[in-house]
Amino acid sequence: MRQFELDTQPPRVAPVSQQHYLRQGGSEAIVYQLSETGCSSGVRVGERVFNGFPIGEVGTNTFVALFALAHDQAASEEDVKLWAEDRAGNRTEAGFWIRINSQKFRSRRIEVSDRFIESVVPEILLNTPEIVQQDSSLDTFLVINRDLRRANNQKISEVSLDSRPELLWLEPFLQLSKSKVEAVFADHRSYFYQGRQVDEQTHLGFDLASYAQSPVEASNSGVVAFADYHGIYGNMVMVDHGLGLFSLYAHLSSIAVEPGQMVNRGESLGRTGATGLAGGDHLHFSMVLQGVQVNPLEWWDVAWVRTHLFNKLPAGSGFD
Ligand SMILES: [Zn+2]
Repeated sequence: MRQFELDTQPPRVAPVSQQHYLRQGGSEAIVYQLSETGCSSGVRVGERVFNGFPIGEVGTNTFVALFALAHDQAASEEDVKLWAEDRAGNRTEAGFWIRINSQKFRSRRIEVSDRFIESVVPEILLNTPEIVQQDSSLDTFLVINRDLRRANNQKISEVSLDSRPELLWLEPFLQLSKSKVEAVFADHRSYFYQGRQVDEQTHLGFDLASYAQSPVEASNSGVVAFADYHGIYGNMVMVDHGLGLFSLYAHLSSIAVEPGQMVNRGESLGRTGATGLAGGDHLHFSMVLQGVQVNPLEWWDVAWVRTHLFNKLPAGSGFD
């Protein structure tokens, strides 16, 4: 008689880190352990699934997962779980200590002038063959602001799902040198044309203004994941920092890097500009975590990164 080994036991998953605080539009990290090898695992926030990555010494089955709550996502603390699934498809979930804080975001009024439309629409049409010119230039602008924005954000999410399985950085994230903040993460924008509201959208990043065509420094070390023209974002670069975390740089006048290229923190990725849907020379900067655009303020904050990520990592992983 042949012996069949049938695995019907789901893996066990248990938190190691103690406290987790997640803000709407923000990020968080958890360290956890699995009872078996060869599982996929991570954190589920409502319907969104985030993958964890092994850390620490081999054989300890210790993992870290970075996860996020989207700016427009409603999730209760009971809806955030560790999950693990073995090769036989046995799946389990486990709760952990977490507090979710809702955030208030700003509202801003944007005046759409014919001059603005004429300055941005032709370039985007030229570089984006799938956008069909409408009867009026306002309608073409609205197709770009709605449909192209949605498609561009979808692509950004997809790029951010393919990440290196290790932390590629050990220093704080940089904000563009000598820049002034002109817009912040998740500003709710109402668009007015000749006194009439024509659209509303959410701005998923920071607008940072410096002098024209200033060098755009890589916010941290990583690998270039995207470097191309990208609709409303104009010339855009995305850098993979590992564990699902990416930084994004948009409206560049020129791109100086190629996909697959390693970049060091502070290294030039190109120059600021006004390509895509930009009224003037500035850098649109954003952070993306496994499909979700998140608030860069947390990642720029050294104390936040220490408390929420580095202090949770086990000794021996090189970050203590
Ligand atoms: Zn922007």
